[in-house]
Amino acid sequence: MAANHKKFPMEHDKKIALVAHDNKKRDLVEWAKFNRDLLAHHQVFATGTTGEILEKELGFPITKLKSGPLGGDQQIGAMIVDDRIDFLIFFWDPLEPMPHDPDVKALLRMAVVWNIPIACNRASADFMISSPLMDGEYDRLVPDYENYITRKLDEG
Ligand code: PGA
Repeated sequence: MAANHKKFPMEHDKKIALVAHDNKKRDLVEWAKFNRDLLAHHQVFATGTTGEILEKELGFPITKLKSGPLGGDQQIGAMIVDDRIDFLIFFWDPLEPMPHDPDVKALLRMAVVWNIPIACNRASADFMISSPLMDGEYDRLVPDYENYITRKLDEG
């Protein structure tokens, strides 16, 4: 392992966040139904409306956060920072302007900062869920941000 990284172990049962913008909800529901049994043994979180629909369609409990535009994306971002999410499936809509566009960008940014796997469309989600890495433990390597935290500031 590179010396300037920290290990964040992912357990066998993973904490997966699912989010879809309105025009992409059907896509996510179809994907999730197809993969229902694989998803069922993980812990699933979702933004409000996405979670309501998925819970009905999948028939197992999902932890529902606020609706995306009301802060749900930011809640998931904060959970990533706190190491409470391992995976993000985020079907954002590339063809509609969103009132919460800054939150969308912030969520994607946090996923990259913390080296969280992200799938933003069905093909990526298919490859991710069928990866052999899904079924075992995995050490996520996160850059050691110590140098950043202790950086010298010109306080004069
Ligand atoms: P929703 O939010 O699941 O509450 O519709 C999704 C989003 O817009 O981020």
